[in-house]
Amino acid sequence: MKTEFKNPRDKIKVVTINGNLMPLDKAKVSITAPGLSYAALVFEGIRSYWNDRLNELYIFRLDEHLTRFTNSMKLLKFSKFPDTNTIKNDIFKNLRANNYQEDIYIRLQGYLDDWGEMAVRTPVSTSIVSYPRPRAVAFMEGKNFTVSSWQRLDDNASPPRIKASANYLNSRLASIQAKESGYDGGIMLTRNGKVSEGPGGCIFIIRNGILTTSSITSGILESITRDSIIEISKKYKLKVETREIDRTELYIADEIFYCGTGQEIMPILSVDKMLAGNGKPGEITTFLQDKFTEIVRGNNKEFQQWINPVYQ
Ligand code: PMP
Repeated sequence: MKTEFKNPRDKIKVVTINGNLMPLDKAKVSITAPGLSYAALVFEGIRSYWNDRLNELYIFRLDEHLTRFTNSMKLLKFSKFPDTNTIKNDIFKNLRANNYQEDIYIRLQGYLDDWGEMAVRTPVSTSIVSYPRPRAVAFMEGKNFTVSSWQRLDDNASPPRIKASANYLNSRLASIQAKESGYDGGIMLTRNGKVSEGPGGCIFIIRNGILTTSSITSGILESITRDSIIEISKKYKLKVETREIDRTELYIADEIFYCGTGQEIMPILSVDKMLAGNGKPGEITTFLQDKFTEIVRGNNKEFQQWINPVYQ
């Protein structure tokens, strides 16, 4: 298993701003941009996977990422932003220009640029930075979590369902608190004390063979990986439900995993030192990891509609 790539910058040939390719050190944003001064910035984290046998790079669920990106900009009242086809072409162009032949993470951003007060709606700029990012070591090894004392953001305050960078202040607090307390991550609860999500991913618990994940109204991001796992589970006849989850269900689960574009499907071995099952990655988690890996790399016929070849 490879270790995390430490300095991906060296491997980036070009980044994209507003459709223009340029070296990273030429890609600048003004300190007066509302994207910086008022956090008027939304983003997507997208993965693409290299298939050595087929000599191809596949972007995973690009259309769904672009739909969410557009929804994020709509909800924050950005106006005159580029259409999804333009951004899609920019992403393909960026990957081809970098000529990557390994697993890649793509960070797409849309932000209010130039100068302006808090409530401006234009001009919107977009940026794309892609860089090598191998699978995390914790995919195999798992992580130990705690329940955070930081409450998850609420839909009526700073809607977590969209990927706004401002939401990550909440995630950042939970993440730092967990690490300072000796854990790998913190699971946040909703205002009503139900399980919401982790700082950068959603939670599934498994009990008596049934997968359960927090409902979409539990202060979570509309996660594409969560949706993929629900669909994969249905395809392979696993029982899956979405509903509110109590905190104590975390403590008596047989298996738990964390999921998202970055983490993919990452076993959670314990929560607050209470072991999930025997504290090792569980059988259903491992089955889903295997299926997910086949699918994202273009080795599964059932979910071909989710992958987009870059070089063909
Ligand atoms: N929740 C949060 C807060 C996240 O940052 C992420 C990662 N983007 C997810 C969930 C998972 O979303 P996705 O599967 O679309 O990457």
